Amino acid sequence: MDEALRNELLLLREFGFTYLDVGEQRAASGEREADSLPATSHQPPATAGDSLLADLERLASVCEKCRLAKTRTQVVYGVGNPNADLMFVGEAPGRDEDLQGKPFVGRAGQLLDKMLAAIGLTEADVHITNIVYWRPPGNRVPTPQEAQVCRPFIERQVELVAPDFVLLLGGAAAKGILDVADGIMRVRGKWREVTLGERTVRTIATLHPAYLLRTPGAKRLAWRDLLAVRAALDA
Ligand code: URA
Repeated sequence: MDEALRNELLLLREFGFTYLDVGEQRAASGEREADSLPATSHQPPATAGDSLLADLERLASVCEKCRLAKTRTQVVYGVGNPNADLMFVGEAPGRDEDLQGKPFVGRAGQLLDKMLAAIGLTEADVHITNIVYWRPPGNRVPTPQEAQVCRPFIERQVELVAPDFVLLLGGAAAKGILDVADGIMRVRGKWREVTLGERTVRTIATLHPAYLLRTPGAKRLAWRDLLAVRAALDA
């Protein structure tokens, strides 16, 4: 079997697939014909926007407007492509992220890497951040007030990266960005146009990788959402 195909199949199995529906598989590969899917990875040259992103990180790292400032180790800002077409927004840094200063480096992050790879992307293709930059103690969900304090930073980050699409990971990110009361199961999988700062983007919410680790059966729903993102990127 072709090495790339074998790797993709291994990833899909990792991602919860126990059988292949050949009909669906053909449709999916038809959408992705052009890339035949070795994961693409490009680092664009540095631009003025990159240094503005670094300035924003410096500002965030000295912000003391919420109580998370008292318990955090360091700011956990964004990683990946500073000019990405697709941005991921998660909930909040956990322990590993707080220690390393990078979003999604723990187990949820490893699954997120597989989710990216399953649609032919790597971290270098996307920009990844959270609705708050600091770890809430004990990995609790950030409060609406904490998310509110961070929101201007996130909006500026979106303006600077200027993505076309934003994938919201989990209920807290969906509530924080979309300002909706419904739970993630109702909200996920639907495209919504949202204006963040001066940038209007198309957003779609999906299940958080940490939830998928606890509930592997739900990976099928996340897979559908990822295919919708892949199709939007390819359109
Ligand atoms: N979960 C998140 O939502 N964000 C991270 O950075 C890590 C885990």
